[in-house]
Amino acid sequence: MTAAVKPDPRITSITAWRVELPLHEGSYKWSGGNQVTVFDSTVVAVETNVGVTGYGEICPLGPAYLPAYAAGARAGIKELAPALIGQDPTGLMALNLRMDQAMRGHPYVKSALDMACWDILGKLAGLPVAQLLGGRYGESFKLYRAISQEGPKQMANKVGDYRQEGYTKFQLKVGGDPDTDIERIKACAEKLKPGNVLVADANTGWLMHQAARVVDAVKDVDVYIEQPCMSYEECRAIRERTARPFILDEVIDSQAMVLKAAQDRAADVINLKISKVGGLTRARQIRDLCVSLGLAMIVEDTWGGDIVTAAIAHLAHSTPPEFLFAATDFNSYVTKPIAIGAPKRKDGQMAASLAPGLGVTPLGDALGEPVLKIA
Ligand code: MG
Repeated sequence: MTAAVKPDPRITSITAWRVELPLHEGSYKWSGGNQVTVFDSTVVAVETNVGVTGYGEICPLGPAYLPAYAAGARAGIKELAPALIGQDPTGLMALNLRMDQAMRGHPYVKSALDMACWDILGKLAGLPVAQLLGGRYGESFKLYRAISQEGPKQMANKVGDYRQEGYTKFQLKVGGDPDTDIERIKACAEKLKPGNVLVADANTGWLMHQAARVVDAVKDVDVYIEQPCMSYEECRAIRERTARPFILDEVIDSQAMVLKAAQDRAADVINLKISKVGGLTRARQIRDLCVSLGLAMIVEDTWGGDIVTAAIAHLAHSTPPEFLFAATDFNSYVTKPIAIGAPKRKDGQMAASLAPGLGVTPLGDALGEPVLKIA
């Protein structure tokens, strides 16, 4: 018997494309008058000396949601890529430490690169990323639908429309005028059927006095409150004033913040976004920490197309179902397919690909000419 040849994969080049992703509904609106009409996404390909290429994607929710913006992702990838040429893409923790050594912070810049290296690891191992992230639970997992901020009546009608599409969990974009937000929450709650779940996500949009009024006005409504105010301390103060179940999102960007929130009993659920924490490697650490601490999670990203949706699916499908509050199928919100093999929503549920790696192959026509190539 001959010994297997160690492949010793090395990164040989990193290529990036800019892709525009329009929305089926024309725009997506949330707190503070923010809206996006066309998402600006970045796709990366990480090539290796062993004939395997991995793909990743990063798509911020515009420039005003987190400290991240689309052109910044590309500028950051250009800055960081030379430090990764010659590195082993399958040593994910070492690769992440290398990225942190070469560039402090900017987790969203690192997300697509880390995602692409998980794709390489899966392809070389012959296993889907979900298997490498801990193993798949069941046949599918549940999705939630975000409801763009509009008038109370329009948003309430959307609850019915999206339920027709199979969704049972609805996340309202509030964080605007508190009186209108109270109406939004009550109007949507009236449309719920048994088993439906309602979340009011303020996306940091309320000051404490406004949040205090809203949570008091909806104290008899079966609704979760998500990230009412900007800072952790403000959110915690509101948490102490309401019995509604509570979700933290924007302020949960590290294992340290999860530990703090768990210690303080500051959240019942956290929202885990892949690019917010720097990629699948860090997202998996946080996911596993939450399972240890008994904290449920929404598993998603800031936004994205087929590749981000595939990565979400692998992370969500390998999360114990009792800890998975919901996940997101961003590729059904946008009009443009950018890869084949991406998971597709069916009856409000989705499943990760069983193919090796992320299971997606970008469509060359959709990507166009690259904006960056580092070799
Ligand atoms: Mg949120």
